[in-house]
Amino acid sequence: MLIDNHNRTINYLRLAVTDRCNLRCNYCMPAEGINFAKNDKLLTIEELKTLSGILVGQGIDKIRITGGEPFVRKDLMELLRYLAKLDGLKDISATTNATLIGPYIDELKSLGIKNINVSLDAINKATFERITRRDQYDTVHNNLIRLISEGFNVRINFIALDGQNTQDILPILELAKHYPVSVRFLEEMPFNGGSKTFQKIAWDYKKILEHIREAHPDFYKLESPSTSTSINYKIPGHMGTFGVIPSFSRTFCGTCNRLRVSATGDVITCLYAKPSANLRDIMRSENAKSKVEEQILIAVGSRAKTGFEAQEKYRDVFSNSMTSIGG
Ligand code: SAM
Repeated sequence: MLIDNHNRTINYLRLAVTDRCNLRCNYCMPAEGINFAKNDKLLTIEELKTLSGILVGQGIDKIRITGGEPFVRKDLMELLRYLAKLDGLKDISATTNATLIGPYIDELKSLGIKNINVSLDAINKATFERITRRDQYDTVHNNLIRLISEGFNVRINFIALDGQNTQDILPILELAKHYPVSVRFLEEMPFNGGSKTFQKIAWDYKKILEHIREAHPDFYKLESPSTSTSINYKIPGHMGTFGVIPSFSRTFCGTCNRLRVSATGDVITCLYAKPSANLRDIMRSENAKSKVEEQILIAVGSRAKTGFEAQEKYRDVFSNSMTSIGG
């Protein structure tokens, strides 16, 4: 088991398979993109398989595949087929913008990979195109409805962006009225590849909840797992649920069970911290397994207690983009 220096069990890995993305969401990166990693700096699928096996051996039992956009990686299914058979791994999930997932939906289902988070920051097409700087709304919407209809456990992640999409908060909640889906509203974080900096946000989780309460005064809180980053609610009469994720307010650090490995092999123990180690060259050297295990133990043994403590230590962390951190 992996236990950190604050006595938290770490069993959840967010594994990025690429830093590239086919969208250009304006809160994530500049219009021209970021300095994406060269191919030889990305972990290969074989390396991702080996690394997953090592980490599951150390106590990880839940892996979320992310990026960048995971489905831009043509060999992604090879990794997922491997993970689906990996002993000790209880839960495989993916986070996607749902532009490219269509052709893979059947196989994902047959592999038993049913937990899919779809990032969707607008229910209005023009707003979607303004934020993502791409014309993909219809594809995303179709894939989203298809995933829900095929019985996937779908969660929609919507970042509340002041002046951009908050008029869509109530309309996107309508999806939870008609479909068994969870719509989660997240706070914006300043990881946008240097596009803008900010110290505070207008739309924190409390303001989002107040806004929803004005239209739905009778929503009530649901029980959530202790390690959940979302605080979850139900509106009476809705098929689905909704939640808020205080990703900037950081109210959930005390029960954090996560570890990130970026597409280039950086080990990241907190979004607000710099990488603790890089595993890529280690993976390409002799005795990789024992060296990786050692680096992971060191990283897990020296985690910041909270995102605020990490931010204090690593003040320039905000020049980064979520697409390279692994969102
Ligand atoms: N491409 C996939 C997707 O769209 O879900 C996975 C990678 S993306 C970087 C993961 C998540 O990070 C998305 O839900 C995205 O909205 C979120 N994200 C990106 N930049 C963010 C920021 N500055 N603040 C908060 N969330 C952000």
